[in-house]
Amino acid sequence: MTASERVVVVGAGISGLAIASELAPDHEVIVLEAGGVAADTTSRASGMISLALEPFPEAWIRFALERLRDLDGQGTFSFTERETVRLVPGTDSHGWTDRAPDGGTYFTQAELLERYDAFDDLSAYAGGIVYDGTGFLNVADYAATLKWLAEREGAGIYRDHAVTGLRVEDGVVVGVETEYGPLDADHVVYATGWRAREQLAPYVELPVRPLRWNAVVLEPDASLADAPLGSEPTMRVYWRPTPRGDVLIGGNEHLLEAPEETPMGVQESFRELVCEEVAPLLTGLEDGRIRREDCCPTADTASPDGLPIVDAPEAAPDGLTVVTGLHGRGVMLSPITGRAVRSLVTGEDAPFPLEGLRLERFDDRSADFEYRSHWE
Ligand SMILES: Cc1cc2nc3c(=O)[nH]c(=O)nc-3n(C[C@H](O)[C@H](O)[C@H](O)COP(=O)(O)OP(=O)(O)OC[C@H]3O[C@@H](n4cnc5c(N)ncnc54)[C@H](O)[C@@H]3O)c2cc1C
Repeated sequence: MTASERVVVVGAGISGLAIASELAPDHEVIVLEAGGVAADTTSRASGMISLALEPFPEAWIRFALERLRDLDGQGTFSFTERETVRLVPGTDSHGWTDRAPDGGTYFTQAELLERYDAFDDLSAYAGGIVYDGTGFLNVADYAATLKWLAEREGAGIYRDHAVTGLRVEDGVVVGVETEYGPLDADHVVYATGWRAREQLAPYVELPVRPLRWNAVVLEPDASLADAPLGSEPTMRVYWRPTPRGDVLIGGNEHLLEAPEETPMGVQESFRELVCEEVAPLLTGLEDGRIRREDCCPTADTASPDGLPIVDAPEAAPDGLTVVTGLHGRGVMLSPITGRAVRSLVTGEDAPFPLEGLRLERFDDRSADFEYRSHWE
């Protein structure tokens, strides 16, 4: 590997930016983005960093948290660490506490009400499991900081530069075709979300499908800036406070057949769920107004097992790396994505296992798979 090796990253979402910031110090990195930087799925993300609640290897969680802590204070970025309460529905806590991953601590309903002013009506819950190792960030600030770090090291990041194809000679990647002409490269990394399945179909089959999420921001009577983050498994919703004291509530994820034709707006059923079932849980939200509604006009990307695909697949041409299937967790996983791609491009060891990221774990690579929810 020499410093003159050129890596073209296709897509400047949070994945492409994390990859660029990892590789720019010792590579010539060019990021080509069809639209705006961090303007697609990434712009819709809630900024919830629920790493400790996710079924990720411990080493991924540790590495991602360390990276976010390290970046805190750089550029415009800040990472607010805050515990998350996963509510335990019903009157019986045992089944839930037994299944609580390591690190969670069970509190009864009465203990939760005493511990947090933010909770209002918890009558439907036995209690909740409180997790550390979680928090939130502003996704636009995070993306801008990764971009700044990459550009500071010489990366070129270009918006409105669509890649129209991969150039391969004798089974080896030699560059990309763009709407402005060909560009040579030693390595090409596709970080284009669900579109990668179609874009790379001539070279490798990727088992991914478009995945939609809904999110709204509610303005409470009084600031809930200090509220804990939350997770409600029967309604399949999560929430996080914002620094200005609002509460962002997200969830209701489902597969999409035709993302390009999907209406922009939040689904009526989700809006009703939030206003009628979720808002009463938190103080001063019941009469709160909806300040913002987010629904992806495009979509995130589901994989069959709910974990991402970050790999240089054996069946694909040499020099091609693929990042897709972030399954609603692409922001919190971006430190993993960036470092894993660095490892694949340079051959360096990664400080965490890569097995759970490999395409080879799927025997069936069709897109005709059942959705595996994070809540199950
Ligand atoms: C409502 C909602 C809430 C979410 N909340 C969270 C959260 O709280 N925490 C979390 O971790 N994750 C969250 N996510 C998931 C997260 O947003 C995604 O996993 C993440 O943004 C994926 O990033 P990406 O860079 O892989 O894809 P994208 O952001 O989609 O970026 C891919 C880029 O590739 C570009 N592209 C495509 N084709 C081409 C081409 N031919 N040439 C050049 N460029 C191309 C696209 O324009 C796009 O900019 C949420 C998602 C949604 C929808």
